[in-house]
Amino acid sequence: PPDVEQLGRSTWTLLHTMAATYPDKASAQHQEDMQGFLKFFSKLYPCWVCADDFRTWMAHPSGRNQPKLGGRKEFGWWMCEAHNEVNRKLGKKEFDCRLWEERWRTGWKD
Ligand code: FAD
Repeated sequence: PPDVEQLGRSTWTLLHTMAATYPDKASAQHQEDMQGFLKFFSKLYPCWVCADDFRTWMAHPSGRNQPKLGGRKEFGWWMCEAHNEVNRKLGKKEFDCRLWEERWRTGWKD
């Protein structure tokens, strides 16, 4: 089975980098493509419990966790909140989402 920690770190790098390179203001087509990516990602991510929980979180009946796809700022913030949801579940420290762009777009490595 995959190493869930190693896979997780690599995947968050991919996901936050996708947010960091998302258009300032995304076209309808781009939003639709990302919606589709997240939908399939959340079914196919090869840590099955992770994928199930992520899909359930996104589909919260209130609609409050739906991906915010209008542009980079809101998508990046949403991704940060998704990651924080997992951080809380695993008893890790929450990340201050105001630092999201600094971490993933304008540089700083840890
Ligand atoms: P990671 O959580 O991998 O974070 C990597 C780096 O991202 C951090 O060093 C920090 O610089 C930055 N970062 C941290 N939080 C944020 C944030 N909120 N926003 C932006 N940047 C941030 N593991 C399980 O054991 N059970 C699960 O159910 C589970 N579900 C997952 C669901 C998804 C969708 C993904 C992608 C991963 C999941 N993981 C799960 C893996 C888990 O989230 C971690 O990746 C893994 O535990 C390694 O953690 P880490 O402490 O090295 O840092």
